[in-house]
Amino acid sequence: MSDSSLFTDLDVDRDGKQFGYIQAPRSTNTAGWANLFIPLIVIRRGDGPTALLFGGNHGDEYEGPVTLLNLARYIQPEQVHGRIILVPALNLPAVQANTRLSPLDGRNMNRAFPGSPSDTITGQIAHFVSSVLIPLADVVVDIHSGGRSMLFLPSVNMHRVRDPRQMSEMMRLALAWGAPYVFIYRDVAGGGLLPGYAESLGKPTLGTEMGSASQYGPATLKLTYNGLCNVLAEAGILKLPAGRYVPAEPSQIVASELRDDYIMSPASGIFEPLVELGDGVAAGQPIGCIHFIEQPSWEPLIIRAKTEGFIISRRAIPLTQQGDCVAVVARRIA
Ligand code: CA
Repeated sequence: MSDSSLFTDLDVDRDGKQFGYIQAPRSTNTAGWANLFIPLIVIRRGDGPTALLFGGNHGDEYEGPVTLLNLARYIQPEQVHGRIILVPALNLPAVQANTRLSPLDGRNMNRAFPGSPSDTITGQIAHFVSSVLIPLADVVVDIHSGGRSMLFLPSVNMHRVRDPRQMSEMMRLALAWGAPYVFIYRDVAGGGLLPGYAESLGKPTLGTEMGSASQYGPATLKLTYNGLCNVLAEAGILKLPAGRYVPAEPSQIVASELRDDYIMSPASGIFEPLVELGDGVAAGQPIGCIHFIEQPSWEPLIIRAKTEGFIISRRAIPLTQQGDCVAVVARRIA
C-alpha cells in the first residue's frame, strides 16, 4: 500500500481502455484547493505482462507526449495481451511550460526518484510512480529526446546493469525498437533517474534520445511510434496487425561509459562546434571552442575530445556556461 497523497480515478485491474488522471494536491494563490491532473491511460485485456510507458519526464521533450497520445487512442484492447499503462506527460507543469524542469518547484523529475510523500510536488509525483505504478510493470519505457539544449543521434538507451539476464533482456527489447543506435550511458549529472530506479528493481527498462533541440518531424515521430510498438510486440503485450516496423539498417550498439566521454565546457562563452553529429574523433582532437565576447582580442578556448570515438550528442544552444556538456563521444561495442 502506498502512503502517497496522490491518487487515480482509474481501476488498473479492469479490462478495456480507460482515460483518466493521476491527481496531485496543490495550492495556488488563485486556487487554495486544487489538484494537478496528470493524464493516465490504462489499456488491459486479461492477465499478462504490463508495460509502463512515460513521456514528458522532461517538459521540453515532446516526442513522448505525442507518441503516447497517439498510441493511447489507436491501440484497442483486442490487440493487447496483458496491460499497457501510459503516462504521456509525467512532469505535466513542465510540459505545459515548455521547460525541462518543473516551474512549480524548479526540480528535474528525472533526478527526483524514488521521491517521497513529504517531498516537493515533483518528488511526490516520482513517489507515486515508484510506489504505485512501477511495482505493476514488467517493462518500463521512458521516452526522452535532446530537449532544447542537446542534439542527439536517435538512440534507445540504458545503463549497464549488473544482472546479465536483465541486461540481455533489455538489449533484446532495445534492438527490437529499430533505432539507429542502442546506447549504453553513465550518469554524469546526478542520480535519481526514473530509468535508473526501475533498473535497480530488476525491471527491463529502456530510455531513448529520439529527437534534437525540441524539434521533430514525421521521421523522428515515426521512429518513436513504430519502435515503441515493436518493443511492445517483442514483449508479447501488443499484436501488430501490420507486422513489425523494419528499419533500413540494424541498430549499432554503442557506449559512452567513461567520464571523459562527456565533455564539459571549461569556460563560459559562445560555443562554436567544430564537429558534427556522427563525426569520428581522436583523443586530443578539437571538437569546439568558446568565444569570449567581452574580450574580442582573445583567442577562443579550444575544447578537445579526451577519448576516441564518434560524436553521438552535442550542445544545441550556443550560449554556454562553464560545466555545460558540449559533446558526448561514443564508441561502437558490437
Ligand atoms: Ca531528457
